[in-house]
Amino acid sequence: MQIAERPSPNFDARPGEGRVDILILHYTGMRTAKDALDRLCAPAARVSAHYLIDEEGAVTHLVAEDKRAWHAGISSWRGRNDINGASIGIELVNPGHEFGYRRFPESQMAALEELAKGILSRHPIPPRHVIGHSDVAPLRKQDPGELFDWQRLARAGIGFWPDFTGQTAVKPPGLREIQSMLNEIGYLCRQSGALDAVTTAAILAFQLHFRPEHCDGVLDTETARRIAIYAQQIA
Ligand SMILES: [Zn+2]
Repeated sequence: MQIAERPSPNFDARPGEGRVDILILHYTGMRTAKDALDRLCAPAARVSAHYLIDEEGAVTHLVAEDKRAWHAGISSWRGRNDINGASIGIELVNPGHEFGYRRFPESQMAALEELAKGILSRHPIPPRHVIGHSDVAPLRKQDPGELFDWQRLARAGIGFWPDFTGQTAVKPPGLREIQSMLNEIGYLCRQSGALDAVTTAAILAFQLHFRPEHCDGVLDTETARRIAIYAQQIA
């Protein structure tokens, strides 16, 4: 695939052995692709990603894969906090919820599939570690959002999509159990037994990824069922 080069200065060294085992997808959340590229390369912004894909499917390479790009910010997945240190970040051009959120076009998705397959061939990234910015920072981020087609990616062998067609659990799980399951899946979530802000954010983040047709942060029967099915399939 054709990849344009536009080096960003916004990176540093990966910690330790520099092992990469997470792939994080974002949307740019800016009005145009040019605005996003300019920001990702501006020293003062101190943000970047390894790649950007515009809506026509053109790919730009910004930071070398063996360097730590600054895309995830304060974040957490499966108890780990230095997500930038162990991840590749891809920005998908989309105005986002602030400037007119819209579908990710076919050409953009096709380019993403090809780019991601290459990344997965170069790094030991398990399916459960192909996730969105909202998954690792539920209190702050919604990207890539409910219009992003995670199921399609999983069909292409990229990421994990549990088989949700299974039966409903005999007994619906209680809140503490749900919190424990969200935690096992990877979300930052304490077993407080209360619907606190962290739990509600984790529920919404789960919906954005695994129940995109219904994202309200409310733990209804179907959301609980899907969380339980995911947890079961990784147990
Ligand atoms: Zn993001």
